Amino acid sequence: MAKIIEPLRGVHDVLPAQVAAWQHLERITREVFAGYGYEEFRVPVIEQTQLFKRSIGDFTDIVEKEMFSFVDQGEDHITLRPEATAGIARAMISNGLLREGRLRVWCMGPMFRRERPQAGRYRQFHQIDAEAFGFEGPDIDAEIILLSARLLRRLGLTRVKLLVNSLGTPAVRAAFREQLIGYFGAHQAALDEDSRRRLHGNPLRILDSKNPEMQRLIAGAPSMLGALDAESKAHFEALCAHIASAGIEYQIEPRLVRGLDYYTRTVFEWTTDALGAQSTVCAGGRYDGLIAQLGGAPMPGIGWAMGQERIVMLLEQQGLAAGPTRPDVYLVLVGEHSEMAGFKLAEQLRDAWPGLRLQINLGGGSFKTQFKRADKSGAAFALILGDEEATRGVVGVKALLRESVQEECPVAQISERLGALLGLEGLKGAEQS
Ligand code: ATP
Ligand code: MG
Repeated sequence: MAKIIEPLRGVHDVLPAQVAAWQHLERITREVFAGYGYEEFRVPVIEQTQLFKRSIGDFTDIVEKEMFSFVDQGEDHITLRPEATAGIARAMISNGLLREGRLRVWCMGPMFRRERPQAGRYRQFHQIDAEAFGFEGPDIDAEIILLSARLLRRLGLTRVKLLVNSLGTPAVRAAFREQLIGYFGAHQAALDEDSRRRLHGNPLRILDSKNPEMQRLIAGAPSMLGALDAESKAHFEALCAHIASAGIEYQIEPRLVRGLDYYTRTVFEWTTDALGAQSTVCAGGRYDGLIAQLGGAPMPGIGWAMGQERIVMLLEQQGLAAGPTRPDVYLVLVGEHSEMAGFKLAEQLRDAWPGLRLQINLGGGSFKTQFKRADKSGAAFALILGDEEATRGVVGVKALLRESVQEECPVAQISERLGALLGLEGLKGAEQS
């Protein structure tokens, strides 16, 4: 026998039995974004490696050790996207969209990071991503946070908490950086290996360490908020007032930073205590310097990314995941001539009711076998088409999810009867909804 090919480490399949939760999340996501006037943006999964190096920064986990990068046959240096913001910013510049001045977009899809796989942390994972370009004021910061809050609320998720902070202007950040180097430098012996490496490259990242042994030292570090410039402080206060007036609970977390280099001013995270170590479900912030860093005319931006796997885990854990989709109808076909007639009937019914979920019995089988399959499918109704029924011009109808007796319905009326039984909408209604 041929050797079985295993999946790659840290990648996973979404099985048909699990896909309903994903589709539910994706449907609600589309609705919520539409409700705020955000348009979908689809960007490539592969980009030039340089894009991520230049935007995310050299001293970040992603660029240091997590990128899936390769040189292709044409000697192009390519990386599988580890996140969406850099690609969207690149696409804004490449397509001349920045000339439009202000844009609010979202995107959804797979991301790739070569991390140590564990529950809630994968090498191929999925993100929902929101981005807004061209807005200076704290109103957009508030809107984009409200949007994430609404999405989580619409999904019914509880046990999530919003943390906010400000990183100030690049100048403030630079001064704060020196402060941190001073503080952590004075405690060299207490630093773990990662932190020691980051000390001079990206000391802000030390604050983001997940190592429990580092937490005491981090708690004593200087606070960002104390170092803020007047304008950033006003921006941050206005943002807080906005989200408070919208009734969103939040907590100011002065040591919250983001792992990526391009953030300025507002940063925020939604965390949960329900997923163990992988506690961040959504994270984002303002990146006013990014577009210029990528060679575009300077333009402010802000965005967030939500980890879909972690959201699906929460949905499942909190009993909010939709169950698998069941067919409405299982079509039982008995007798020599019923197969052709059955296919024809099935197509007619699908023409009449675009929303109808009809599964046809394939490969024959006795009446009893087919009924067993019908039950197993979870269908609400079985339609029975046999040679005997065909000669009399009728179809058998039996409800499967409750005690019932089989009825007969003239073929000419079966479509209407099914529509009424299932509350189906015709073509027009189905396309409008
Ligand atoms: P972490 O600190 O957990 O590594 P991060 O700062 O690297 O997160 P971001 O780049 O901000 O994460 O990504 C936003 C969100 O995407 C995270 O909050 C998380 O929900 C999700 N995410 C990031 N990396 C992974 C991964 N490897 N597997 C699954 N989800 C992920
Ligand atoms: Mg990470």
